[in-house]
Formats: sequence, structure tokens, C-alpha cells
Amino acid sequence: MSKPRLSIYNRYVPAVVQETGFEGPAYWFIFRAGQLLVAEDSGAAAVPLALSPEELTVASIRTLYLGTFGSIPCFAAEASPEATEPPGLLFRPLRSLYEAMDEDLFHLAGKAVQLLAWDETHLFCGRCGTQTVPSEAEWSRKCPECGLVSYPRIAPAVITAVLKGDEILLAHAGHFQNNMYGLIAGFVEPGETLEDCVQREIMEEVGLKVTNIRYFGSQQWPFPHSLMVGFLADYESGEIAVDGEEIVHADWFRPDSLPVIPAKVSIARKIIDWYIGQYTRC
Ligand SMILES: [Zn+2]
Repeated sequence: MSKPRLSIYNRYVPAVVQETGFEGPAYWFIFRAGQLLVAEDSGAAAVPLALSPEELTVASIRTLYLGTFGSIPCFAAEASPEATEPPGLLFRPLRSLYEAMDEDLFHLAGKAVQLLAWDETHLFCGRCGTQTVPSEAEWSRKCPECGLVSYPRIAPAVITAVLKGDEILLAHAGHFQNNMYGLIAGFVEPGETLEDCVQREIMEEVGLKVTNIRYFGSQQWPFPHSLMVGFLADYESGEIAVDGEEIVHADWFRPDSLPVIPAKVSIARKIIDWYIGQYTRC
């Protein structure tokens, strides 16, 4: 099994300002309190095509142009908190829609919700409080008074599969809602390289030293604004010692005796599926 290569650019072309002359419906990624408006049919969820949110009878308080998807214009919109669901459409948590939506549109929805959240929280300059102005050349907002430019914020985090022979280290975190086991993950701290972060998180959470850290792949994680950077690493030394706070239990597992593992939406699952493909004996 090859490693998955995710890309938002299979059918999507980004743009900050819409070219003039297009008339016709657009994809509207409309969010209310972080939930996406979709049409559901037999388990499949579709992003509505319309001329405007108002055509869908949804009052919007903010819109952003995103570019085109298969030559169809795409907009992000934030619905008024009081907006009700139009007939036949529903607001759904984005994360729950992964297996129901076209994967490329799901990733574009992730971009849309992050840009809306950034736009909403940068209407005023963080340094002098003046109202900011959006750029027409890139996703940024500039303060006309002091010149401060704000860009959409992305928080990088690493997630690592520690391998020991044909075994994989999986851990159960205290905040997991069921008995799921996942990979060791954590946010990158200022001053660290990604590899530093991999080593620190694994030492802090399970007390192990690792070596041969190599890149696996990455994935946006718009809950709310992370970039997950996946790694593989080999066990070097130490005995599993969980921190008891973030991680309550961790152990080595083989492909034929795995516990409950994360949902398909996550890069954790993509790494674990790759491991199963590599280490399952035919
Ligand atoms: Zn300013």
C-alpha cells in the first residue's frame, strides 16, 4: 500500500477576487457556528449550488471568495447565528461529513471554515485597534494606520507512528470519548524543528526514545486551524511510561490484534492503514 498523497488542488484553483463576467450558480460553503450547510441524500452530503445565500433563504453576515472548483466559483459564507435551515438543507458538523462528501469538496470546506474564522477575528488591528482592510492579492488583512498585516493562522502539529519490528505503539488519551487508541501527537512549540517536536512529545507522553524519524505526509485539520504533519519513527530505547494525564494507557500492537482505531477522516488512520498494509503477512 502506498502512502496517501492528499491535495486540495485536484480540481480547485484558488483566487482571492472573482473574475468578472461569470453568471450562474456557485458552490456556497455556508457555516453556522462551525457547522456546514449541506443537502443530504441517502447518506451522501452535497454542498449547495446557488446564486447567493439569500437564494437559499439563508441570511449571511460575511462572505469570502475562494476561487473555482471545476470552473465553478466557490464562496465561503458565515450564516447569521439566527439563520434557520432552508427546506431540504441541514447544518452538520464538518468532521462528521468526511465519508459522506466528495473528498476534494470536504478539504475545500476545511479551507473555507478556517478563512471565515480568521477573517472574523482580524477585523481590527491587533496592535493599534484600527479597522483592517482585506487585500485583493492574497488572503491577508492590513491595518491602514500602522501597516500591520495579518495572515490566516495555521498551528502545526506532529503525529507519529512509533514502530518496533512489526509492532506499532498506540495510545489511549484521557480525552478520547471511547476506548479508541491512536498515535502520539502534539503541537509544535516555538524554536522546535518538527523532528524535535516528535522526540519531545514521545518522551513526554510515553517515555520512549526514537530514531530514524521520517516524513509520512500531512493533512489540514480545520478543528480549528491545525496542520497535522505525519511521521514514522523507530523505537530506540526505554520502557513505556505514560504521563497519566494526556495519555492514560499505551502499548505495542500487531496488525492482527489492533484495538479500536481512529476514523478514516484522520491522518492517524491513514498512517495506521499504511502500517497494516506494510506489516500484514500474506
Ligand atoms: Zn494597526
